[in-house]
Amino acid sequence: MTPRHHLDSATVVAFAAGTLSPALAAVAASHLEVCAQCRQQVRKGERLGGLLLEQQQPGHASHARRESLRQDILAQLDEAPVAPPASPFRNAIDGPREADPDRLPVSLHAYFGETYSALRWRWMGPGMHMIRAQGLQQGQLILLKIAAGKSMPIHSHGGSELTQILKGAYTDALGRFAVGDVADLDSEVEHQPVTVPGVACICVSALDAPLRFPGWLARKLQPLIGL
Ligand SMILES: [Zn+2]
Repeated sequence: MTPRHHLDSATVVAFAAGTLSPALAAVAASHLEVCAQCRQQVRKGERLGGLLLEQQQPGHASHARRESLRQDILAQLDEAPVAPPASPFRNAIDGPREADPDRLPVSLHAYFGETYSALRWRWMGPGMHMIRAQGLQQGQLILLKIAAGKSMPIHSHGGSELTQILKGAYTDALGRFAVGDVADLDSEVEHQPVTVPGVACICVSALDAPLRFPGWLARKLQPLIGL
């Protein structure tokens, strides 16, 4: 699997700096498990962050020392990384896991368990099921299962939405999103995903703020489904 839709650079930098909310970090890490391109970006972000911190240390670094650090930053951007373990999601950037179709991404095990077959889905509406991760202090992390060929309510977001496709696929105005892809959306984007025919779509979404549905029916449903 080679994802075609990736984390945006702001998300990569925030992940590398450890400043993403736990929900967003879990989805970002789940994508990193299958995406060599974004793993490389995170490593660059970590190296840059470390060098920039060093450059900002108070003290009396000479001009020559600062210039040498600047050269280091430029020179190391394309080098192979040697990064120390730094976060609970660290293993996500060590490389892909073996592909067992019943196994959830490792980064999601703490929230949803290890296997799809053990998930306990909650009915949310015709053709839609969900599971909400418990115990998050900030934001929301949900698994969604949407029947094949179904259209989601059109919605936008009060904050960031980061969604990764785990099974199946959907299309929206931004393109087709298949297994491994992430939709990294900010609050400006209003979209209406439609799942492709033939196979249910399972995705994991992290939300910084509640979804906003514009339709009156969707607004009535919103408090019921808790989004
Ligand atoms: Zn990627």
